[in-house]
Amino acid sequence: MRFGVVTLFPEMVAAAAAYGVTGRAIERNIVGLSLWNPRDYTSDRHRTVDDRPYGGGPGMVMKYQPLHDAVIAAKQEGTESTKVVYLSPQGKPVTQALLADASKTSHIILIAGRYEGIDERFVELDCDDEWSIGDYVISGGELAALVVIDAVTRLLPGVLGDEDSAQQDSHSDGLLDCPHYTRPEQIAERLVPEVLMGGNHKDIERWRMKQALGRTWQRRPDLLKRKNLSAEQENLLKEFIVELV
Ligand code: SAM
Repeated sequence: MRFGVVTLFPEMVAAAAAYGVTGRAIERNIVGLSLWNPRDYTSDRHRTVDDRPYGGGPGMVMKYQPLHDAVIAAKQEGTESTKVVYLSPQGKPVTQALLADASKTSHIILIAGRYEGIDERFVELDCDDEWSIGDYVISGGELAALVVIDAVTRLLPGVLGDEDSAQQDSHSDGLLDCPHYTRPEQIAERLVPEVLMGGNHKDIERWRMKQALGRTWQRRPDLLKRKNLSAEQENLLKEFIVELV
């Protein structure tokens, strides 16, 4: 899978992507990352990428032409199925389901805006989609692009050491993850739950599912409303609630 990022700060994206899961995936050629700076597609002496907004008001707006030419260059690397996505607080919410779908695309070009945003005609003419990482505003799309790259990369086959670990993560099946423990057995009177010490894999699996259901019920009831629980899951959740009191 290949990511292209159109950004005024390519060094920022390259530096952060070089660590951990994404860094290893890039080293092992499971993921390719190309960076495209709109400033490299300007023709004036000052390499201008922004201008004042029509109608007045604060801030600057990213100009159409340098972004357009950067995307044209970025597309040359890809296949027919390239998807161009503008990262924007006005976009579709980025969810695990959206990312799982994105992980099936062979080439995604992410557009990181800056300033007040980008000329709307670029969004209309050059972008296939708009994605938001949350209902808040950050100063530039680079961090949003890194979130998407990281979250998609960990879903790609062969990236995570244990193939199952992405499937057990929060949100992968509409539930939050269960709690995790490591040594030592006791910290400030708090013991590791006994079932995890017993070595009975069936009991451990059952306990983990119960905790995942219980946590989701306590912290994110909105997720539970959207999920169809099996009869066994319904019983586990009842058990969790009874054991609380
Ligand atoms: N004026 C814009 C608005 O209110 O919709 C916000 C511009 S923001 C300061 C600059 C850039 O940061 C945006 O063009 C976008 O690329 C990025 N950005 C900000 N918040 C984001 C979010 N929640 N998700 C994705 N990208 C975001």
